[in-house]
Amino acid sequence: MKALEERIRKDGIILNGDVLKVGSFLNQQVDTALLKAMAEETKRLFPDGITKILTIESSGISFATAVAMEYGVPMVFAKKHKSANVSGEQLTARVYSFTHNEFNNISVSKEYILENDNILIADDFLANGNALKGLIEICEKGGAKVAGAVIEIEKAYQGGGTDLRAKGIRIESLAKIESMNENGIVFEG
Ligand code: 5GP
Repeated sequence: MKALEERIRKDGIILNGDVLKVGSFLNQQVDTALLKAMAEETKRLFPDGITKILTIESSGISFATAVAMEYGVPMVFAKKHKSANVSGEQLTARVYSFTHNEFNNISVSKEYILENDNILIADDFLANGNALKGLIEICEKGGAKVAGAVIEIEKAYQGGGTDLRAKGIRIESLAKIESMNENGIVFEG
């Protein structure tokens, strides 16, 4: 999406060479017009049959909610826990966090992921692919179908997307970064 790429160029801040900060328009302060345009683009990419949108707390929630509103379906988010002490029957996966450099047990209450669900996963970033793998594992444990994943920003050079596409998962990224360093950002395509 050209509008997203232009905004990343204008307002994105590169930290330590590998982390892109987008807090001024996506992650902390949210540009709602851009968010709506991204949700509409998602519906264009995956037009039919989606029953739920799944993301992981916390930075995926605003995007996933906007997408879910576009389809008129529920948004579900996986919670992050350092220990496994959550109540009720849970679907869980162990996920390494790129930004916090630690493992989390992520979980979703079993009653929110059902066998007849066709789930679209939505997240803000795709880097090494661990968050996405964990969310796919949760869908599989619940017996739900994964229609694919939509990502606001994929850092393609980190390889997570390549791995998962090779396994047959459909991933659509609204902005795909080919390379990023102190000299700037190069988008794919
Ligand atoms: P992965 O699991 O694919 O390595 O990383 C994806 C998760 O890490 C996303 O849910 C996102 O919250 C976070 N993340 C990865 N790279 C970045 C980045 O460059 N900037 C920000 N703000 N978050 C990132």
